[in-house]
Amino acid sequence: MFKNIEKKINADLKNYCTFKIGGRGTVLFPKNQFEVKRIVNDCKKNHLDFFILGNGSNVLFPDDDFKKIIIDLRKLNNIKIAKQRTVIAEAGVRLFAFNRFLEQNGFAGFEWSYGIPATIGGLTYMNGGAFGEEVSNYIKKVKVLKNGKISWINRKKIDFSYRKSNILGIILAVEFKFKNADSKIIEKQQKEFLEIRKKTQPYDKFSAGSVFKRTDDKIPAIMIDKAGLKGVKIGGAEISTKHAGFIVNNGDATSKDVKDLIELTRKKCGNFECEIIILE
Ligand SMILES: Cc1cc2nc3c(=O)[nH]c(=O)nc-3n(C[C@H](O)[C@H](O)[C@H](O)COP(=O)(O)OP(=O)(O)OC[C@H]3O[C@@H](n4cnc5c(N)ncnc54)[C@H](O)[C@@H]3O)c2cc1C
Repeated sequence: MFKNIEKKINADLKNYCTFKIGGRGTVLFPKNQFEVKRIVNDCKKNHLDFFILGNGSNVLFPDDDFKKIIIDLRKLNNIKIAKQRTVIAEAGVRLFAFNRFLEQNGFAGFEWSYGIPATIGGLTYMNGGAFGEEVSNYIKKVKVLKNGKISWINRKKIDFSYRKSNILGIILAVEFKFKNADSKIIEKQQKEFLEIRKKTQPYDKFSAGSVFKRTDDKIPAIMIDKAGLKGVKIGGAEISTKHAGFIVNNGDATSKDVKDLIELTRKKCGNFECEIIILE
């Protein structure tokens, strides 16, 4: 099983997520799409559950050992220009690298995403967005591994909604279409978006981004702020004093601390749906 696949057994999962929280687990690092397919086949044959990991910027691992096999896709990191203004990026490409590629090649439209610590696969799966934009606005096709088969799915056949997609398989690559613009203008806009992030979010602290999803009529961060919960702590977890929608890890937070803080917030402000993926 998993022959010649790079792996880390008993890995400290704190090192695999931006929250820096978690117990231990087995992490596999496929170096190409065929290895992903092979790992999934091996898991199926051996009745093992698996979890696909991007950059771990939206997940909360458990404090105990994580039983599922983690498939870390960050070695799938090729980017290429397919035709004019059409770019194909593999799922494990980090958004910072993608933004740099777009800037260097004068492809515009994606500047708003600068500073989200995601991979292309994670961003697509979550339909990540900011400043009124969403990744799905730029997607043409998604390459997916599903039921042992790899195929491209046209964007029109995928249902993207707020921080959600109905993609059931493993995203291997994504095809995007952009506009043309001067690299200098793109760079300037990216920097401006990053500055806004740094001013409004606890960007220098360990977190997994916004904890709760907005609804049409409720913005959790505003309600949490109004309830006076900014700065409330449980163990090492704290509701950010800078942005009430974030929970930050002050260094020694456990998964339980974060979950207890989520429950406290829900009791006081309403039963918001979590945006972060809580793993057990
Ligand atoms: C400081 C900070 C700021 C943030 N700002 C934003 C923001 O502005 N907007 C926003 O939308 N989010 C934001 N986030 C949250 C997070 O970055 C996004 O949700 C991001 O899309 C997650 O990408 P990831 O690669 O880290 O995915 P992970 O956290 O690794 O995974 C998230 C989910 O996607 C699944 N997944 C990952 N890769 C694949 C794949 N290839 N195929 C199938 N499923 C996959 C995982 O199984 C998991 O269920 C922020 C987070 C932080 C820490």
